Amino acid sequence: MKKLAYLLLGLALIYWVITLIVPGIIDDKFNPVIDKGPNTVSNEARELYESLDFVGDLHCDALLWDRNLLKRNDHGQVDIPRMLEGNVALQAFTIVSKSPKGQNMQENTGETDNITSLVIAQGRGIDSWFSLYERAIDQCEALHRFAKKSDGKFRVVHDRNELQSFINDRKSNKQLASGYLGVEGGHCLEGKLENVDGLWNAGVRMMGPTHFFDNELGGSAHGVSNAGLTDFGKQVVRRMNELGMIIDVAHSSEAIIDDVLAMTTKPILTSHTGVKGMLNSQRNLSDDHLRGISETGGLIGVAFFPEAIGDPSAENIVKTMKYVKDLVGYQYVALGSDYDGSVTTQFDCTGFPLLVEEMLKQGFTEEEIRGIMGGNLKRFLLENLPQ
Ligand SMILES: [Zn+2]
Repeated sequence: MKKLAYLLLGLALIYWVITLIVPGIIDDKFNPVIDKGPNTVSNEARELYESLDFVGDLHCDALLWDRNLLKRNDHGQVDIPRMLEGNVALQAFTIVSKSPKGQNMQENTGETDNITSLVIAQGRGIDSWFSLYERAIDQCEALHRFAKKSDGKFRVVHDRNELQSFINDRKSNKQLASGYLGVEGGHCLEGKLENVDGLWNAGVRMMGPTHFFDNELGGSAHGVSNAGLTDFGKQVVRRMNELGMIIDVAHSSEAIIDDVLAMTTKPILTSHTGVKGMLNSQRNLSDDHLRGISETGGLIGVAFFPEAIGDPSAENIVKTMKYVKDLVGYQYVALGSDYDGSVTTQFDCTGFPLLVEEMLKQGFTEEEIRGIMGGNLKRFLLENLPQ
């Protein structure tokens, strides 16, 4: 009996040590930054960047790693102190609930999952070990907890009023940052329509139908079926439209994008993407889909990682932005870094001035720069978040 007690105590101790050490090592390994800065740019670029009243980004997976986002970390790509240091007003925090072993851009099934062992190693609540829905709720709660403990420096926005008062307050105090919640892949609904409302009540304001594998809603861009929306997927899209939950077609199969474009009653966006016209991969969007999304009044979030844009330099990011701008207009272009999404990036969120410098180099006007760095996102959210 005593031996058993010691054994259990020993195991608990080992588990506790694992939860302290392993998650940080994994985080550091999966989200490397090539140049950790400080980033030097011209005075012109610095001054213009500092004068931007709203810098915002459509996608990061920082919540997945269980990192303390209230602390300035020396690993990973975004946290609240770095947002404040880098004049970043708003970051979308997107939730990953399942990712297949051997995840790749071409073809994945949903039979295996890497996130289960990760959440166990992180010591997250037992509910989130076995339920994808609870796993998503757990990450929603984590972001709200960070806001609560941030001494008023960070807010989660859920509607137009909260965003507008954040914008007003930030006019006299730039040491304020905000975020909103999104979800990558409706598999965390566990096939239940009422869970759309559950996520909504937990604060989620944006969701993509699929992530890296086909699910109950339809086909992934990296799945097997290439299918469009299932009946359940259509019900989810309808409910999202009713609630005002923003539809994000990043990672969706081409057929899903067609289906969503045909049925949505609200503007849609892609939160992190490259374009086929620059890099022809199944991860990236065709000109037709870029046009279709912009015609809804939506946004194209340009990603910062190699699989979307090739070499992840500021030059390449801005070339991709220029492609979209020339095709559909700058008003539809936004930042969609995919920070902390298991990607390698050139710079972290304090490196955004590098984009301004590069945009000036590539002939963007000040108006275009203001829009793409966050003005477009601010306009979109003030029009499309719920009242
Ligand atoms: Zn993604």
